[in-house]
Amino acid sequence: MKILVPVKRVVDANVRVRVKADGSAVDIANVKMSMNPFDEISVEEAVRMKEAGVATEVIAVSCGVHVCQETLRTAMAVGADRGVLVETDVELQPLAVAKLLKALVDKEQPQLVLLGKQAIDDDANQVGQMLAALLGWPQATFASQVTVESGKATVTREIDGGLETIEVDLPAIVTADLRLNTPRYATLPNIMKAKKKTLDVVTPDALGVDVTPRLTTLKLAEPAKREAGVRVADAAELVSKLKNVAQVI
Ligand code: AMP
Repeated sequence: MKILVPVKRVVDANVRVRVKADGSAVDIANVKMSMNPFDEISVEEAVRMKEAGVATEVIAVSCGVHVCQETLRTAMAVGADRGVLVETDVELQPLAVAKLLKALVDKEQPQLVLLGKQAIDDDANQVGQMLAALLGWPQATFASQVTVESGKATVTREIDGGLETIEVDLPAIVTADLRLNTPRYATLPNIMKAKKKTLDVVTPDALGVDVTPRLTTLKLAEPAKREAGVRVADAAELVSKLKNVAQVI
């Protein structure tokens, strides 16, 4: 079984992002970039399936600018067998990514596409679902446990108020939630070995996909600064402030 694992290069989760002065975008100049944390989890899961003999090949895919190659090398350093970069300087929106991934699925014929549940930069939570719709495949989103056996995947999903376990026929789309696993760190020897693994580069044109953005961002703004709190002497003053100042009761 081949597994395709899409990995996105995003601003590192520990960076405090800043909006550009003109409100047009988040400023990513000189900011640390990393693999989307949910994609680290999906790579880990795919690699574990290969180690368990369930999968035969793990292919990492990234869509975006030239330096996304670094993200693919990171995926290969933790066990992906090879990488594919769909290189473009165009800003990629979820539908465009889903169409690019569909073109790669048609070419590579994986039995499973294991994505992150969402990218932490624009928090869209759309690509997996859109890809399932474009392919006409079953989908199991927000996975916290995945077992593959006899052409089926049994997936425990994190839903509001608890867990739900569903079974989907392969080929299928699965998106990883936080509790699926704890990703391993890449070791230095494996980082060196990853440099020799195959990394193919294709373009959206070569895949026959139009990636022109369809959505326009009108404005980005930082959240309003929180005002300093005040101490109240007793419950009576608290009630009075809630009533007369905050006007919430
Ligand atoms: P989103 O729907 O944008 O929140 O992203 C959900 C998942 O789709 C991510 O966790 C990735 O697995 C995949 N994905 C999104 N954008 C890209 C991209 N540019 N390249 C590769 N995978 C992507």
